[in-house]
This record gives sequence, structure tokens and C-alpha cells, in this order.
Amino acid sequence: MPTMKTYTIASCAAWWCAALIGAATLGGCAGDGGLAIGGAGAPHDTLTQVSTIDALLAGQYDGHISCGEMLRHGGFGLGTFDALDGEMVVLGGHVYQVRSDGHVYTPGPDTPTPFATVCRFRADDRLVVEAGTTWEALQQQIDARLGNVNYFYAVKLTGRFKVMKTRAVPAQAKPYPELADAAKGQSVFDMTEVSGTLVGFRCPPYVTGMNVPGYHVHFLTDDRRAGGHVLDLELANTAVCEIDRLDRYEVLLPSDPEALRQLDLSKDRGKELNDVERGGGK
Ligand SMILES: [Zn+2]
Repeated sequence: MPTMKTYTIASCAAWWCAALIGAATLGGCAGDGGLAIGGAGAPHDTLTQVSTIDALLAGQYDGHISCGEMLRHGGFGLGTFDALDGEMVVLGGHVYQVRSDGHVYTPGPDTPTPFATVCRFRADDRLVVEAGTTWEALQQQIDARLGNVNYFYAVKLTGRFKVMKTRAVPAQAKPYPELADAAKGQSVFDMTEVSGTLVGFRCPPYVTGMNVPGYHVHFLTDDRRAGGHVLDLELANTAVCEIDRLDRYEVLLPSDPEALRQLDLSKDRGKELNDVERGGGK
């Protein structure tokens, strides 16, 4: 049985201070408009990912692209950090790190990531979602709205949640275990009556092995004190889900040729991914 720690989120002034200080540090680093850092990066409607989900499942947790470099490709997204140290939420051009201690940190631009997915979010559709909508129902409603599920979509929903259940995986030590094992030590956070933003993607089925087919969504509270990888939710109030269709797909593989050399990426890790995504890990 997985060892699962459950925390109830409570107020903590220190978290807020840490978030404020960190945000100030990273403040000029990048943004949704791709400011600063050379003006390079992906155009709109591009999903850019760092490495592949199967490399992460196989235990490749060494970060090889910095958050600063990642932000050149988009200021909206999710992922994880070097050594699998928590859940990444990228919102408004800022990177937030939800660690397994339940605190939210704001890492500097040099912090490396082994896996992340970002875009320059620009909504081209909006869906009104009623109070009481569950996680399952929300996915179905978005799917129905999309019509065509063979594109990539970024989804963003800011609202109040009656239920928000998230998790964060703790940092791992070398030799790294595979993700299915690492996720057994995850912390689970049960929040109620909390306001915040869902940040995520819906990827088409053909990305199997590369990214997460279906929905992969992280959460960050409005006060930036809590969040994580979403396991379950229920909306407290009616909210608007913003949707951005992405028709370009960019993958940033590690420039270090040794990074992926030792990994067996030939096997089907679909079941592992499903277990990790929906109940357990990234
Ligand atoms: Zn995740």
C-alpha cells in the first residue's frame, strides 16, 4: 500500500512571506508575453514541453533546462523540479513550487526542471461551469465544448472550490526510483472552500509516451499559499473555464547526450502513468 500523508491546509503567514519574497526575486524573469530574455521562444498556440513523460516515469529527475529558459516558451503551465521536488505551477509568467511539505515556494530562474509543459496562454473560447461541478464532470463538459479532441488545449479556470484535493511528491535521492514508486511517498492535501486557479492541459491520445493523454491539471490558491497536482475537485460557485487551442507542438530534449542514454524508453508505461496521474504521482 502506498504511504500517503494527508494534510489539511491552514493559514500560515510565513508561507505568504516566502511567496512574496520569491515572487519579487523572479519578477522580472519572464511573462506570458515572453518579455525579457532575448525575445526568442515559441509563438502563440504552441505547446512546449521539457523532456518526455516516459523519461520522468523512468526516473529521469535531473533538471536540464532552467525555469528561466522554460519561461521563454510560455508563462502558463505545469511540471516538476530537479529531483522531483514538488509540483510546478506556472501562472502569469511566475513559477511556483508546491512542495510535499504543503508550502509554496518561488524558485529562481536558474532552478532546473526535468519535465514541464508550458504555452503562452491566450483564451480563444470560454465555457461557463456551474456550481457543484465535479472534476469528472468538468472534464466531460470541456470535452463536449471542444468537439475536436485531437488538438492540444490549455485550460485555465479561476474560481472558488468547495472541494480541492491535490498532491505533491517529495524530492527524491539518487539512485532515483521510478515515478510509480516515488509517488507512493506523496503528500495529499484536502482543501475546502478555497479560491484559486486551475492551470492545465488536455493532450490528444497520440501523445502517449511523450506527455499525458487527457487532462493534467495543477492548482494554485489565490493567496499563493497552497496548491499541487489536482486529484479531485468540486466547484463552489459558477465559474468560467478559459480554453486555448494549441496547434503546434515543441519538445525540448536535454542537450546533454548522456541525459537519456541509460533509460529504456521502449516499453509501454501507459498503466504506470494512469496510476501516477489519477491516484498517485506527476
Ligand atoms: Zn502533475
